Amino acid sequence: MMAGSGAMGCRYGAALFEAGHEVVLLDGWAEHVAAINSGGLRVTDESGTRVVPVPALPFPAPADPADLVIVFTKATATAAVAAAAAGAVGPATLLLTLQNGLGNVEALSAHAPADRLLAGVTMLGTELAGPGRITALGSGETLFGPVIPAGAAAANLVGAVLAGAGLVTHVTDDPFRAIWAKVAFNCVMNTSCAIASIPVSALGRYDEFDALAASVLAEIEAVARAEGVTVDTAAALRLMKAQFDPAASGSHLASMLQDLMNGRPTEIAHLNGAIAARAACRGIDAPVNTFIARIVGLLEATWSRRVNSLH
Ligand code: NAD
Repeated sequence: MMAGSGAMGCRYGAALFEAGHEVVLLDGWAEHVAAINSGGLRVTDESGTRVVPVPALPFPAPADPADLVIVFTKATATAAVAAAAAGAVGPATLLLTLQNGLGNVEALSAHAPADRLLAGVTMLGTELAGPGRITALGSGETLFGPVIPAGAAAANLVGAVLAGAGLVTHVTDDPFRAIWAKVAFNCVMNTSCAIASIPVSALGRYDEFDALAASVLAEIEAVARAEGVTVDTAAALRLMKAQFDPAASGSHLASMLQDLMNGRPTEIAHLNGAIAARAACRGIDAPVNTFIARIVGLLEATWSRRVNSLH
């Protein structure tokens, strides 16, 4: 069961369905669900467009426990989507999140004990091209693991299922390290591109990028350390700078910028906003992340009134 079947839920759901698994795409967008059920899910990648006849259901899930529920909505909707999927969560169901941001594991923990919770990140890129249509971009690994050691066997089982569906998959015993590393990446790259309203590769034109990144990352490192997580900020910075190469990111628009442009809420409360909130709880100073979160909040509230959009 894919709960929250936008771009990424459809991509993973299609891969698992094509590998022979029984998959249901669960989603709240009625037009999307109807399009999938009437014409199949249309998946476009480098090799062309194919139709995947995977079934879809609207929220809420019927009371029919699944072996695995993958929650793949925006972090802002995790709690609501997990509640809408609760009918599919039985006493043996595993819950997996590969979403961006902080707070997803906490939201899912209301629905399953920790030994059935799996979490991590995905480096795949996918766009929702319209109801029932996705564009699957390139390749990238899925890295996840159990949130407590007692879930290790379950993580290995799910890892084998994903790998068997052709997804490059690695299981780690420290998923929070991977989650925080991606949070660090997004707190710099996603927010900078959204605030400046530029494609990812244009960030390379900014001479003071290193200083900007360092000020964001130092606060993230301090909050992560207080939560017992190590963030390799040097590796995060190398990964960011690799995106300056147009061959790596092309004219790609960061998801936060796309959310603003489409009038949708961003995941800022689960990125810089979450760093600011967690820092405040622990008495750590995080003025840079606090300010960035406020600026993105300002953009969310005022985007339609931007001067450019008035001409
Ligand atoms: P998405 O925006 O494609 O979908 C999220 C939800 O919004 C879905 O329920 C979808 O049906 C709904 N939605 C989207 N467009 C809609 C519209 N026009 N009308 C009504 N409902 C609409 O989200 P996603 O890109 O799949 O992201 C899910 C999670 O994965 C997020 O945490 C994201 O940061 C993360 N992620 C995404 C990518 C990517 O390339 N898309 C890559 C890595 C991680």
